[in-house]
Amino acid sequence: MDEATNEQYRRALEAAHRYALGWLESVRDRPVRPELDVDGVLALLEERLPQEGAQPDDVVEELAAAAEDGLMAMGSPRFYGFVIGGTYPAALAADWLVSAWDQNTGSRQPTPATAAVEEVAARWLVELLGLPAGSGVGFVTGATMANLSCLVVARDAVLRAVGADPAAGLQHGPVVRFLAGDAVHTSVVLAGRIAGLGAPRTVGADAEGRIDVGGLERALGDGEGPAIVALQAGDVHSGAFDDFSAAVDIARRHGAWVHVDGAFGLWAAASPRLRHLTRGLAEADSWATDAHKTLNVPYDCGVAIVRDEAAMTASLGAHAAYLPVVASIADPYDRVPELSRRARGVPVWAALRSLGRDGVGRLVDGLADAAAGLAAGFSRIPGLEVLNDVVFTQVCLAAPDDAATAALGEWLRAEGTVWASSSTWRGRTVVRFAVSNHGTDAEAVRRTVDAVRRGADALGIR
Ligand SMILES: *Cc1c(COP(=O)(O)O)cnc(C)c1O
Repeated sequence: MDEATNEQYRRALEAAHRYALGWLESVRDRPVRPELDVDGVLALLEERLPQEGAQPDDVVEELAAAAEDGLMAMGSPRFYGFVIGGTYPAALAADWLVSAWDQNTGSRQPTPATAAVEEVAARWLVELLGLPAGSGVGFVTGATMANLSCLVVARDAVLRAVGADPAAGLQHGPVVRFLAGDAVHTSVVLAGRIAGLGAPRTVGADAEGRIDVGGLERALGDGEGPAIVALQAGDVHSGAFDDFSAAVDIARRHGAWVHVDGAFGLWAAASPRLRHLTRGLAEADSWATDAHKTLNVPYDCGVAIVRDEAAMTASLGAHAAYLPVVASIADPYDRVPELSRRARGVPVWAALRSLGRDGVGRLVDGLADAAAGLAAGFSRIPGLEVLNDVVFTQVCLAAPDDAATAALGEWLRAEGTVWASSSTWRGRTVVRFAVSNHGTDAEAVRRTVDAVRRGADALGIR
């Protein structure tokens, strides 16, 4: 490249580097909530595409200036919304390299470096999560796409098992029964609909959201034909884990495929202390998880894992005369529903390499410890109650009545020390704390409990 182009890259990346560090260094102490809403940011952006372009570094400056006050400090150790995760330095830096390298990591032959790094990351993940060696791993955008990928593989496999040809279309095969517990995540429902399975038939759940295994047994016995059962590792409200041993056992007796949505909970398997929550989970057929949540890599990265790699490539593999094939080894695009994609497994490699096996265990334990610390602190505040059994990283908090709980959620989000989302659980309004940032330490817990106490005082909750 000529000197002028090099200079443009240098200046644009230096501007981005400066702003990125400024953001990262402010994220711990700035108010968690954004200062501006969407309309506020829109007012700072050009309404019409200007006729003339601009210098790359000026573009970066303009973007950063317009965005600054509309950014949520999602990387704050006191951000508890949804299930988000932070980002580790090694993972973030690796993600920058992925952008600079710009490798379309679909096939092994043209992009050997990123394909190899992803293969190692895949192997490490399978080992770390205690899943069967040799499982197929696909790096997708998130757990929703991971759920979809796995359900498509499941659908085709159960159809093939009864002699139907999935490629002929669902309209030519028997109905595939799709079952889940009542607390099934909306992502699995969406994935089921996209996969042509429809929303799952729900078979019940206990108070914490664990699938009712008796209900599952009845539902499976109540019909016949191919079936897929979706289980859950980590309920978004309670953090609860299904009884995998019992559920898999029942599903096996009915010849059903077992899929596990473990978007954040699958990581419990990486902790010697919390692994017991996942007992029996490795007996399933497929697993969906996120790296952008618990593992703290930057958005976006989900992981689809299927025990039978051949079934995975049979459903998701792509073939065309112009696409290179290396021997009989599956390519990255044979394990995801995409052809072109960034090397999103590379930041996973970097996060795992920087943590090591013990570090991942400590990360997961730290998140669970913080959740336990929040629950202990909250329950000492008069008038407040933790509704769930805090077994993992989720804490649902409630005041004596729904209106007060809703007001507490709003007070907290406006005050800015913490950010937690409001939800409804077991028919009650709750403020929901999901611990998923590696920086959520004892100090963050103390400041969070303190903010909740101030909110409860200000609102006269007792
Ligand atoms: C977040 C989440 C999903 C969806 O994951 P995305 O990465 O947002 O697509 C699915 N299931 C559970 C339990 C989740 O927490």
